[in-house]
Amino acid sequence: MAPTKSQPAPDRTAALELAHELLGFIDASPSPWHAVANAEALLQKHGYTRLEEEDRWQLAAGGRYYVVRGGASMIAFVLGSKPIADAGFRIVGAHTDSPGFRVKPKAALAGDGLARLAVEVYGGPILATFTDRDLSLAGRVVLRTEAGQATRLLNFQRPLLRLPNLAIHMNRDVNEQGLKLNKQTELPLILGQLGEGAGEGQGAEALLRKLLADATHTKAADLLSWELAVYDVQKGSLWGANEEFIASRQLDNLASCYAALTALIATKQPAATCVTALFDHEEVGSESAAGAGGSFITDVLARISAHAKLDEEDRQRAMARSFFISADMAHAYNPNFPNAYEPGHKVSVNGGPVIKTNANQRYTTNAETSARFIGFCEKAGVPCQQYAHRSDLGCGSTIGPIVASQLGVASVDVGSPMWAMHSARESAGVHDHAYMIAALAAAFGS
Ligand SMILES: [Zn+2]
Repeated sequence: MAPTKSQPAPDRTAALELAHELLGFIDASPSPWHAVANAEALLQKHGYTRLEEEDRWQLAAGGRYYVVRGGASMIAFVLGSKPIADAGFRIVGAHTDSPGFRVKPKAALAGDGLARLAVEVYGGPILATFTDRDLSLAGRVVLRTEAGQATRLLNFQRPLLRLPNLAIHMNRDVNEQGLKLNKQTELPLILGQLGEGAGEGQGAEALLRKLLADATHTKAADLLSWELAVYDVQKGSLWGANEEFIASRQLDNLASCYAALTALIATKQPAATCVTALFDHEEVGSESAAGAGGSFITDVLARISAHAKLDEEDRQRAMARSFFISADMAHAYNPNFPNAYEPGHKVSVNGGPVIKTNANQRYTTNAETSARFIGFCEKAGVPCQQYAHRSDLGCGSTIGPIVASQLGVASVDVGSPMWAMHSARESAGVHDHAYMIAALAAAFGS
């Protein structure tokens, strides 16, 4: 959609700085647990206090807090200066998880002199993009300690695993048929070579356990359990003739997480109580204790309301005055595939935040919430675009409808435009990240 007001020329220096910050955040966040740990460090640097769900909370007027559930979901909030019943909540939601591979509990496979890892496909990655990349492992491990048990984050950071393609001489039709991989038999990742006589499963198991033990400075016997994500170690980069694009793993949806965190941190003394909610498990349907379909968001809002001494009627008044923005990435137009898009909804990279609409409620946007978001973009001086999926293609969805159904609040689905969603390496625009932060900050200030 054409902006209704003339937009100021984008500030390239500021946008580049924000893009570098974003890439730094993603480089350091190869798993959703790392994303939340890095978000926590950022919030603490800006004066936010951690609350524990199992403790009684003490909330001070105008205070800044965050809560973590399940290690990979987080809700951060700033208490507004106006009574919650009069101003409601301004909530931005995004997800911390990304599609890819997860290591199975007993993953080590041995045979033909090689150790391989059995993996489960998490969500809907483009499998072929994970071939021939420098893959590594990151996640969390639970250890036996003298005091009981402890959870540690782990990130190998170096190329550790590989999914080699079959040579074209053995897969002659690959360019005509595309690369098809069987999820059970053709995805085990090569971890290393086994020495002579170590052909049994024990050799591979011992190799994996030694790697995990060394990385967590413990004994292999004290490793109890783990959740490990496979990721590509290549760092994020700027690209394009004028470095107007960014490329990285996990832009979906760490770009929205980081934009929502940056906008919240930039919001000083808001009138309304402002909330950034980052959920795990979106890529697998959100139905979990810590996911958007669980009770996390309703529990935290209920506790904030209880501390503000809202009775049931005022709590419902607060929800009726609230607004929820579901921020997840959007599909930018790719001119090599014109038939994949709805002709009237070609969304441009660096064209500004995208409002996503689907009459079948895969997105929550309606006329009023869309107009409200356009207003935030106008206030922030950033362009804004509209996306609808082709009618003959299944539309994706996100946390928007799940959270909106639970809270019953006015909601809109938005996102920054990107190419190659769910590829091992996705790309997007330098300016869009700055635009999204400005639009979300305007929403928090509303
Ligand atoms: Zn997403």
